[in-house]
Amino acid sequence: MLDPRHLSRDEPLAPFTTFKIGGPADLLFEATSADALARAVLAAREHDLPYFVLGLGANVLIGDRGFRGLVIRNTARRCEFRDAGGDACELWTESGATIKSLIQESVTRGWSGLEHYVGIPSTVGGAIWQNLHFLSPAPERERTMFIAEVFERCEIVSEENERKTVDAEYVKFGYDDTIFHHRRDVVLSATFKLQRGDPVALQRVLQENLSWRGAKHPWLDWHPSAGSIFKKKEGVGAGRLVDQCGLKGFRVGDAQISHMHANIMVNLGRATAKDVRELIAHAQREVEENCGVHLEPEIGFIGEF
Ligand SMILES: Cc1cc2nc3c(=O)[nH]c(=O)nc-3n(C[C@H](O)[C@H](O)[C@H](O)COP(=O)(O)OP(=O)(O)OC[C@H]3O[C@@H](n4cnc5c(N)ncnc54)[C@H](O)[C@@H]3O)c2cc1C
Repeated sequence: MLDPRHLSRDEPLAPFTTFKIGGPADLLFEATSADALARAVLAAREHDLPYFVLGLGANVLIGDRGFRGLVIRNTARRCEFRDAGGDACELWTESGATIKSLIQESVTRGWSGLEHYVGIPSTVGGAIWQNLHFLSPAPERERTMFIAEVFERCEIVSEENERKTVDAEYVKFGYDDTIFHHRRDVVLSATFKLQRGDPVALQRVLQENLSWRGAKHPWLDWHPSAGSIFKKKEGVGAGRLVDQCGLKGFRVGDAQISHMHANIMVNLGRATAKDVRELIAHAQREVEENCGVHLEPEIGFIGEF
């Protein structure tokens, strides 16, 4: 039984996504604890109700006709720092906590490990689902960093309805890939291992990464988006190919290929999911014809279009 105070009907989903696009969910449940998240998933499965776990909605495009079934919005955000001996600590956190809030908490306490992901909108569940990553702009750290590097274990409710703790071997972290793309397990909480950091160095990483983002990416508060639309293709950034086709600034309705970054599509105000899908199809056609490459979307398409 879901707590009726956290359940609503025909609730528009656009406000719960970074794209600010998406029609209503038949049912929307806000899971404010890991237990409530597990109960909601189990209840949906028991009643054969289609369900979808939504984090910050930063990697999805939700259809204009919304979602038939139950959307479980994960806002379970409890976290705890536990001494791991020496210069290390374990950060245990429910999976609806945002990476932003965890960075604030850990940097304030002088713990290093999550600061590289500053400026990326994500819950812990979303970050583990896709192995959140970031190519550091600083020459001394110039490599892609993955959330897998600080991951210790997580508690899941498995496809078989068991609650259990699993390790990195189970999760099979890859590039934009984990076991959770292939099994209907849901992450309830996670534990990360952090190291004591130099406060000056931590602040430097935050500033460098945020100014790199500010210079390269459209600002989310002004230009809602879902980040990169297409996957990298054989090591070549999709943005470079879209840019080569002269598509920066190209629009369908209120969906536009960003002037700042050709792999990001922005919502100029009233973009619909249909606009975005048409813009994606147009970019795919142009890149295929001009560069001979088929671009695959990186974002998830959820619900009815
Ligand atoms: C401006 C911008 C910049 C971005 N930059 C980057 C970047 O540099 N690097 C990068 O890697 N990504 C980036 N992204 C993409 C996005 O931030 C990540 O994919 C993020 O991890 C999505 O997290 P979320 O909580 O919003 O997940 P959602 O978008 O809500 O969900 C994504 C998927 O994860 C699943 N999921 C969510 N929670 C759980 C859970 N608890 N258990 C199981 N499955 C779950 C959902 O069901 C869905 O399939 C960017 C996005 C934006 C908008």
